[in-house]
Formats: sequence, structure tokens, C-alpha cells
Amino acid sequence: MMVTVDDALRMVLERALPLPVESVPLRDVQGRTLAEEVVADEDVPAFDRSTMDGYAANSGDMVNGETVLAVVEDLFAGELPRRALRRGEAARIMTGAPIPRGADCVVMVEKTRSAGPGHVCVRGRARPMQNLVVRGQFVRKGERLLPPGQVLRPADVSLLAFVGVASPRVYRAAECAVLSTGNELVEPEEKPGPGLIRNSNAYGLSAQCAAAGARIRFLGIGRDEPETLKQLVRQGLESDVLVTTGGASVGEKDLVGRILVEEGVEICFNRVAVKPGKPMWFGTRGRVLVFGLPGNPLSAMVTAELFVLPALRRLAGQTQPEPRIWHVRLGEGPVQALDRRQYLPARLRLDGPECIAQPVLSHGSGDLISIIHADGLVVIPEDREAPRRGDVVEFLPLALEVRSVGLSP
Ligand code: AMP
Ligand code: MG
Repeated sequence: MMVTVDDALRMVLERALPLPVESVPLRDVQGRTLAEEVVADEDVPAFDRSTMDGYAANSGDMVNGETVLAVVEDLFAGELPRRALRRGEAARIMTGAPIPRGADCVVMVEKTRSAGPGHVCVRGRARPMQNLVVRGQFVRKGERLLPPGQVLRPADVSLLAFVGVASPRVYRAAECAVLSTGNELVEPEEKPGPGLIRNSNAYGLSAQCAAAGARIRFLGIGRDEPETLKQLVRQGLESDVLVTTGGASVGEKDLVGRILVEEGVEICFNRVAVKPGKPMWFGTRGRVLVFGLPGNPLSAMVTAELFVLPALRRLAGQTQPEPRIWHVRLGEGPVQALDRRQYLPARLRLDGPECIAQPVLSHGSGDLISIIHADGLVVIPEDREAPRRGDVVEFLPLALEVRSVGLSP
């Protein structure tokens, strides 16, 4: 059954349910999705504190010119003031130390000089509240800091530690089995003999899936032979997701679809109106999601990006698992429109305030090199007039970080 890209994605996401929640120590939590709301357990900061090394004082004491104050104690971070300041007094204070009562400002050390034992001379006036932060200035106790569904970035991990959430509740990471099929494949460390090629898909796909938060189970290469393939597919069906590449079409040795059916996978579709990538199987067995991707390297990458990664993000608990879409201008055109949606590898550049996507030269769905030179994929809609140079088009960014949106020198 041939389906559109939109219908295919909808069917995939309908069947991808968030995995169970678990508590994970902070050191292992980066990239996971939060399953609870995180609130401040106390005011931030929890006490009035200095943001400078200098002298805590009362701004009312300082006059134009120079003021001499009596230094009554030294205050270090982690220590409490022993006494309140009276008029004419100051306390030497370090960054992060609590402000003593009676002080309303900190004078930075660069604006002072010693005035003999136990005294400091301050140059110029001081403003109330300068160089200090007051209790609750950043966040109030009970205030919401992170919503459920937040994908935890390094700054979020730091925040969790800050508010004392040592083992946040997050969704379990999906386990994704990756299986390559084809008699022509050898592993990367081998030199391919005549007529053979290296198994590049398994590694690229694993990297894509890992970036979407999955743990990878590598099943190696399955030969185009029913019994071995069946054994490997069975192993793969023990994971949350099974991704195969190759053997997805209608050639004599394209066995994947048949074997999935024999192994009890309920097929949702086996062809998608997309270029690259038309032959592609998707089905489920129980809660296990199965993707039979095409063998052509560009097709495999694009279909993974369009369907497998959204599924993995949904399993991982993300609330917006769909591919990200940017709007940019087409650098060159017109491009030919087809009756299936096209994804053209393209490079981004800035032209003044405009972001331009320039399709890169591609030799078709087997051409892995074209995607190496791309920042993402320009979307050419199906069954519509082809976009021309300068038209606004949808763009699917591919790398985690775009290399550069170049104003090159
Ligand atoms: P298939 O989908 O099995 O008909 O394969 C389509 C094309 O992709 C053929 O040229 C295969 O040699 C190639 N191919 C299949 N699997 C892989 C793989 N794992 N890595 C790189 N190329 C592959
Ligand atoms: Mg094959």
C-alpha cells in the first residue's frame, strides 16, 4: 500500500507510545525527556549575597570624595556574618558570601584602599543594592522551572542539580535494533572484494538513532537468505524498535517484507510517496515498531529522519516528535515537481537577512556524498507547481548543529 508522507508519519506516531518512566541519576540524564514538573525547592538565591569581592557597607555612609570606614569582620562564601553593621562600619566580603544586616551595598575592592589597621578608605559614593543579589531575586520558592516533556540539555541538568533533584523522573530510552541485509555487504574494516560494498547504512542509522536518544543494538549483516534473516529479525523484535535496511523492494532477493509478515508483524504500509525512499515497510508487533528501510544510503538516511527518529522521540517521551521544519528561500530553481514529495540535500547560506537553501548536486538515492555536503533537506511538495528560485520552501535541518550559516570571509 502506497501512502503519503503525512499519512505515513501519522500512522507511525499513532503507534509509538511513550516508554515507562524511571528515575535516573543526574550524571546519566542528558538528552532524556523529563516526566515530571520541576519546581524551585527554595528561593533563589536563598539569601542576600555579594556578587563581588569588596566591602559590604551602608550606602548612606559614603560621601563624594573619600570615606573611611571601620572594618569589623571578614566574610567568606559559606560563612554567616557574626554581627550587624552599624553606621560607619564595613565588612570585608567575598563573592557569594551572605550580606550582613545593616549593609545595603557592596563596594568593589578596586574602589577602595587600606586606611591603616582595621580601616578602609572608599572612593566616591555608592548606590543602594549595588553588587549584591537579594533573596528570591531570580526565582521564588515553588515557581515552575522545567515542564514535563523538556528534553534535558546541559543547562537543564545543572538546574536540576541546583534545585536538588538528584534522580529526576525521565522516560526510559528506547532500545533500537539495527540490521543490514544484503549479500553484497562487508563490514567497514574489510576491503570489499569484486562486486561488494561496505555496510555503511548500519553505522549511519545507528548514529542517527543514538542522536534521537536510543540505545543501539547492533545485529550486523543478514544475508539474503530466509532462514538467517528470520533468526536476526526475531532477535530484533525483542527490542523496542527494529530498523532494517535493504531488501525492502520487489526484487527477487528482497525478502524483508515477507519475513516481517511471517514473523507476525502487522504491516501498516510498504511504500511511501517520497523521493528518495519509496520502498519502505512499517508495521508493529505488539508494542514493537518495525521499519524496513531501503538499502540506498541516501534513502535510508532520509526515511530514518522522516519516520524512525520521530518514533524514537515519541517513545522517549518528547511532546513534539515531528521533524523540525524551517522556512527558507530556494537558492536555485525551478526544481522539478513530482507526484511524490521530494527531499533534496541542500546547503544553507545567509544573504543579508535571508536564509537561502542551495540544493547540492546529487546523483540520486545511492549518493551518500551529496548529503555530506548538505545542512539539511529542501522539501518539494508533491502534486503542486514547482518552487522557483527565491520562493519560500520548507527545510528540514539534518545535523544537530548546522555547520555554519556562512557569511564566509
Ligand atoms: P536494496 O534495497 O537491498 O535493493 O539495496 C539498494 C542499494 O543499496 C543497492 O545498491 C545496495 O547495494 C545498497 N545497500 C544495501 N544495503 C546497504 C548498506 N547496508 N550500506 C550501504 N549500501 C547498501
Ligand atoms: Mg539488497
